[in-house]
Amino acid sequence: MRSTGERRFHPSLAHAVHFAVFGLLLLLVLTIWLAFPLLEGIAEKARETRDVHVPAITRWRHNTQRSEQLYNFINTLYRSEDPARVRNVRLQSQVLTNGFSFEPDKQLAKQAARVMQAVLPLTNTRLEQHQLERAMAMRANRIRQFTDRLENLFLNREPPMLAAVTVSHLTFTTAAETRYASLHATNWPEVIDNIRATEESIANLLVYHNEHSEAANDLLALLEQQRLDATQILSLQSEADAFYKSAISEQRHLSSLLNSDATLSAQDLAQRMEDDAGRIQVLAWTYIIAFLVIGSLLIFGFNYLVLRPILKASNALELASSGKPIPSSDKQPTLFSELNMISRNVQRYGDTTQELRRLNDELEQLSQLDGLTGIANRRHFDAALKQEFNRAQRHRQSLALILLDIDHFKQINDRHGHLQGDDCLKAFASLLKRFTQRSGEMTARYGGEEFVLILPLTPLQEAQALCEQIRSETPELSLLSGQGELVTLSVSAGLAYTDTPTLCSAEELLEAADSALYEAKNSGRNQVVTRVLGHPPPRTKQNAR
Ligand code: GH3
Ligand code: MG
Ligand code: MG
Repeated sequence: MRSTGERRFHPSLAHAVHFAVFGLLLLLVLTIWLAFPLLEGIAEKARETRDVHVPAITRWRHNTQRSEQLYNFINTLYRSEDPARVRNVRLQSQVLTNGFSFEPDKQLAKQAARVMQAVLPLTNTRLEQHQLERAMAMRANRIRQFTDRLENLFLNREPPMLAAVTVSHLTFTTAAETRYASLHATNWPEVIDNIRATEESIANLLVYHNEHSEAANDLLALLEQQRLDATQILSLQSEADAFYKSAISEQRHLSSLLNSDATLSAQDLAQRMEDDAGRIQVLAWTYIIAFLVIGSLLIFGFNYLVLRPILKASNALELASSGKPIPSSDKQPTLFSELNMISRNVQRYGDTTQELRRLNDELEQLSQLDGLTGIANRRHFDAALKQEFNRAQRHRQSLALILLDIDHFKQINDRHGHLQGDDCLKAFASLLKRFTQRSGEMTARYGGEEFVLILPLTPLQEAQALCEQIRSETPELSLLSGQGELVTLSVSAGLAYTDTPTLCSAEELLEAADSALYEAKNSGRNQVVTRVLGHPPPRTKQNAR
């Protein structure tokens, strides 16, 4: 059965990185794509402000000034006492209102024309009033002349009459009033009443004297004309008032049109620009937060999903290299396939390293053993001797070395065959092994049919007894040849011993054992010869025959 870890989906790290980079780029493009129309909108509105609204506001200011001037002109037309000025202002008003006809807003042009339509009758009425006024002033001069004639006619008569005086006075006053009459300063109904009173006084005087005077009649005709003109002026005045009101009202309407135009659209534009800027701000914040969140997630994800598994793999590699087992927590599958592959390979490396170490140990052990007898070989012996000798030197302990050689082994080979010889060697090795069971003790095949024993911390007598025991037990090894013959072995031994290892060397000890063995051989074989180093050599010779 497979583990759940194997069954899980493992995306590729490379794909994940590509995906993340692509995603960020996409987010960036999206930001620009979304912000671009808003920025373009603001730019468009800025252009609109420059091309449309700023000129419109400029025009609005200009038109407002023109409208205010028009208001001043209307007032001047209404109040001025100077007909030349009235004519001049009428012309200026005409020019001013014509100016509005170039405006793109046709309603303004129309309204300006309507103002002018109200201004023209006001001007005409005013000019007509001025004309009547001027005629009255000229007539007043002639009436003034008649005052002298009236005095001649009535005042010089005896007895002088009060009525005549009154007439004279009235006529004089009327002449003066009408001569200096002003449209606004003069009380026209009073003037009319005065003229009428003068006319009546003169008529009464003529009736009283029963006289028909040509001069008096001319005067009366003049006075009547004067009265009619004054009445006309008075009636034109109400017309002028009406025209004035209408002109002012049209002008106000023109002003209101101006107010509602440029300012409102500029306000609207400013509001729209503010909205766009607000949207950009919201967008910017959204993206800043999104980038922060995504960035944090990416950093966290990278640390947890990439860095951590890499560190684990590195740790596992270190453990594997030093031959330690990899903890199971470092073997768990990670998200990305590449990291899983690294983890698997590290595990394989760990397993292989451990297997190699095991084999190495095995090989090392094998390299230290003799292939035939299974006991330590010469190489292992050399190292062990060095080690045990050093230890003996350090601790000032005794060390015994026994070199053994099977007697006439060549003959055994020759007689019973090489294989039988091998069996003898194996049996002899087994025998020797029994005597080296303690720690530090060793049995090794020295070469061919020669063997060696290392015996640390063994007293001389004990070592000698041991040699003797080996020598005596060797012939007891009951070995049968292929032909059923009993094969009997004997062994010669050289024992080298020291309890003062600081006074000699390992080589000297080995040479001493060799020399003792040589001596045992030469002395007839099947015997043990002992050599003691570091002390005067007490030669001991034992024969077990
Ligand atoms: P000596 O008493 O003087 O020791 O006589 P020897 O014949 O034992 O001594 P020699 O050195 O002349 O002969 C040793 C023989 O041991 C010669 C060789 O064929 C035999 N031999 C050495 N190694 C092996 C082995 O691994 N197996 C067998 N079967 N024989 C071996
Ligand atoms: Mg030999
Ligand atoms: Mg031999």
